[in-house]
Amino acid sequence: MSLNIITTIADMQSVSSALRKEGKSIACVPTMGYLHEGHASLIREASKNHDIVITTIFVNPMQFGPQEDFERYPRDLERDIAIIEASGGTYVFMPSVEEMYPSNFQTTISVGNISKPFEGIYRPGHFEGVATVVAKLFGATIPDAAYFGQKDYQQTLVIKQMVKDINMSIDIHIVPTLREKTGLAMSSRNVYLSEEEKNSALVLQSALNIGLSLIAEGMRDRALIEQAMIKELSTIQEFRIQYCHAAKAETLELPAEFAKTDEIVLLIAGFLGKTRLIDNMLYSRTLE
Ligand code: AMP
Repeated sequence: MSLNIITTIADMQSVSSALRKEGKSIACVPTMGYLHEGHASLIREASKNHDIVITTIFVNPMQFGPQEDFERYPRDLERDIAIIEASGGTYVFMPSVEEMYPSNFQTTISVGNISKPFEGIYRPGHFEGVATVVAKLFGATIPDAAYFGQKDYQQTLVIKQMVKDINMSIDIHIVPTLREKTGLAMSSRNVYLSEEEKNSALVLQSALNIGLSLIAEGMRDRALIEQAMIKELSTIQEFRIQYCHAAKAETLELPAEFAKTDEIVLLIAGFLGKTRLIDNMLYSRTLE
């Protein structure tokens, strides 16, 4: 099937409703475009499980802070479409900003505690923007399921909480982070990095691996795990740490000591030059 591109909410809703009446199962893969293999893996996974995969491309102004990179966020629609087609996508929904936020728009979705720490501290308002746009994209695409990357770990928890709290009947699937051969987590923003910075960025992965090995060896003292990761991060002077934590994977709580059975997520964010990087790794079973 060739790729269909839809730009209005009304068209998207009528296409989706018709497909649902035909008994098709529909997956939505929300993205901001400038796609890479990480996005492709979400689309591929979705197309394994569903008849129809709607990839949305929308650079959402509401989730960017005033000092952030909304204006210069990279775009390449032609390449995006080729990647979506090659990955088994069937529809692209790419509304304009005016279509999504007409002048009388006045509703925002604010998810509570889970959106407060980490990204919530350093990107105030970000998760309100994310929750609101994802709810709107779900309202337009009317999916049975949606696919998100573990790369944005806290975001996956925020979305799951929203879907549960407001009774959306949508299965949320989380796909593991895809990495470059070097181990660098793929991100549309990696295009901002120089070759030297790409090399320096590998310190995030090495710090996360150090944290994981300590936990695997039985360490459950949070401060010790975090200190070891921060020590590794500080080997790259140019990396400016925003946060580096070990947290309970389901709630993001920060206990002094983890229980042996706790699933633990290691989360790092910071700046390399002008580029903000985030990465994470989970200890124990992958979250689905
Ligand atoms: P973005 O376009 O950055 O908003 O990302 C769209 C979706 O792709 C989100 O669910 C991300 O978590 C996911 N994603 C981004 N990078 C990766 C990656 N390296 N591996 C897997 N999923 C990713």
